[in-house]
Amino acid sequence: MSDWKTKLTKEQYHILREKGTEAHGTGKLLNEKRKGMFQCAGCGAQLFASDTKFESGTGWPSFDKALLGAVEFEEDTAYGMKRIEVKCKQCKGHLGHVFDDGPTKTKKRFCINSCALEFKKKGITMDLKDKIILITGSSIGIGAETAKLCANEGAQVIITYFKDKTKAEELGKELNASIFQLDITNKKSRDHLIAEVKKKFKKIDILINNAGVIAWKNFKDQTEEEITSQLRTNLEGLILFTHAALPSIKEMIVNISGGAGKTAYDELVPYCATKFGVRAFTQGLAQEINIPIVSVNPAMTATRMTNFQGVAAVRVAEVIIKTIKGSIKPDAQRDVDVWEYM
Ligand SMILES: [Zn+2]
Repeated sequence: MSDWKTKLTKEQYHILREKGTEAHGTGKLLNEKRKGMFQCAGCGAQLFASDTKFESGTGWPSFDKALLGAVEFEEDTAYGMKRIEVKCKQCKGHLGHVFDDGPTKTKKRFCINSCALEFKKKGITMDLKDKIILITGSSIGIGAETAKLCANEGAQVIITYFKDKTKAEELGKELNASIFQLDITNKKSRDHLIAEVKKKFKKIDILINNAGVIAWKNFKDQTEEEITSQLRTNLEGLILFTHAALPSIKEMIVNISGGAGKTAYDELVPYCATKFGVRAFTQGLAQEINIPIVSVNPAMTATRMTNFQGVAAVRVAEVIIKTIKGSIKPDAQRDVDVWEYM
């Protein structure tokens, strides 16, 4: 089943398809205590409800019961032990084992690999209260409007600016947000920001890659500096910043691409190339990581980039917030096209 190899991470494949076991105490869902549903990481079937999870002290997520009809059992005599293997009924993926020494009235202890599961929080919306949200390029425009909406929801916002220090400081004060200078094209600057954020916040719940530059003229009239600046800020910087931040990101990545990332336009040739690239980056990375990643694609937005012609930045910010909260879902290409929600 080479299909599974492309669909699953290496570790998921090892567990679900090769009956592997993750090292105890390492699983990402070991301490998951929120209300919701644990699904099969292979096929998405619902397997265990959060109210059947208990602390077993074994180092693996433990449940006292599976959903009706969700799992099947098989005798497992590997390693000279007689154990009962638990498999996903739908895709036959290996999940873990079940034992008869549970502490609750079912007497069962389903000992399940985190890696074989995905957790879906109850309800459709994410609560942004106290979430740590880093928004690149957020002193003005879409970034600033998004920062305001996030702060209104009780999030702890991290604002980054390149040149607009005064604007960033004003906004930071208004939102009680942290502000940092970031030159996303510069490795030292990127690494410094991530180190500072880690020191202060320990993690980033949501990264919104918004920083971007544009040169609006015929390709032949663009200087090498203008072209390089667009490539390095909009694409290289975004990818490298995400790469450096990835171990700290816990919940979601939102990349701001655009209509120019779906249709190419004259006078925006390098810009379109970077925005197509952002969408490709999103689609590829979505297949590798377990946290949601989306491209939010505004049409022309009234920002400094467009001489303030087009849709108000706050309308775009509203779509970004709805996407984060889950009330707007990306399509199969991980796109949220803002004009669909105007
Ligand atoms: Zn399954």
